[in-house]
Amino acid sequence: MASPTVDADLCVSCGLCSQVCDEVFEMGGDGVAAVKDGANLGADCIQDAIDQCPVGAISA
Ligand code: SF4
Repeated sequence: MASPTVDADLCVSCGLCSQVCDEVFEMGGDGVAAVKDGANLGADCIQDAIDQCPVGAISA
């Protein structure tokens, strides 16, 4: 899977992706979700985060 990206303009800072897929996503200091440095881009939970983000802010 390609590296996921978070659309900062769409993200509503709910934190769900960082809970569903803690090994890849974290909440940045600005409240917007971000992909962690060195994240496992093969993690199955990435798709779960994409599917569950309430505003469709994550793409890959
Ligand atoms: S699940 Fe979506 S809206 Fe919620 S923090 Fe992650 S990217 Fe932002």
